[in-house]
Amino acid sequence: MNSTSTITATSPIARNQDSEPTLQLNNVTLQYPDGENGHITALEEVNLQAAAGTVTSLVGPSGSGKSSLLAVAATLVKPTHGEVLVDGVDITTLRDAERTALRRDKIGIIFQQPNLLPSLTAVEQLLIAEHLRGNKPRKAKPRAMEMLDVVGLAGSESRRPHQLSGGQRQRVNIARALMGDPSVLLVDEPTAALDHERSGSIVRLLCQITRDFGVATIMVTHDTEFVPLTDAVATMRDGALSESRLIAA
Ligand code: ADP
Ligand code: MG
Repeated sequence: MNSTSTITATSPIARNQDSEPTLQLNNVTLQYPDGENGHITALEEVNLQAAAGTVTSLVGPSGSGKSSLLAVAATLVKPTHGEVLVDGVDITTLRDAERTALRRDKIGIIFQQPNLLPSLTAVEQLLIAEHLRGNKPRKAKPRAMEMLDVVGLAGSESRRPHQLSGGQRQRVNIARALMGDPSVLLVDEPTAALDHERSGSIVRLLCQITRDFGVATIMVTHDTEFVPLTDAVATMRDGALSESRLIAA
């Protein structure tokens, strides 16, 4: 079995607060049922820590378990065994309602496809997400405008998805994930649908946001070129973390 030491990318923010890692996976194993009595082991004894204000790149071949790791960290899938701690709370022990609340309050999720509603403007995409959280649009609007500014979309708030480029749509997606002021940002192949130049600017934006907002970010990427922009890299192979290392500044 593969066992790796655990790395933690620490940022000045994390060090100042002398805090524990924002996100910790301890000996996480995830098996999906397969056939009558069989199973597929998507994650095997995975240990990973991520500190506030740092980006960890998650790399590895297709099928190695990267998306499964994000799904577990996002509280969308419960691991077969192991602990998942967000701000010190083990989410695997929570009841459904508590887990949903924790996901809403602490976790931002950004997938490859922005998944925007075609008929809504950029700012409305953020407001509808807040509405689903129980927040009134009028109250949420100032923050929505601010988050669109943060991602470089000031002036484009009234555009609908078809009036935005692929990179701009991904920026709306990022702004939406920031609305709830998450502790953890989970990002799955954010640049898969983008050209090279736009991919670089999206990764740089994610790194900037991570530092400015002090979130712990895990970013799955197949684009190893952008890994040096991040703070640490974790490599997955056959469901296990085969290598974890910090990236020299
Ligand atoms: P990656 O994101 O690195 O491509 P995944 O986490 O998607 O890898 O998949 C890891 C393994 O788990 C693969 O063998 C995949 O087929 C399997 N898997 C992923 N999701 C499911 C699921 N919902 N049900 C059954 N098997 C799954
Ligand atoms: Mg995947």
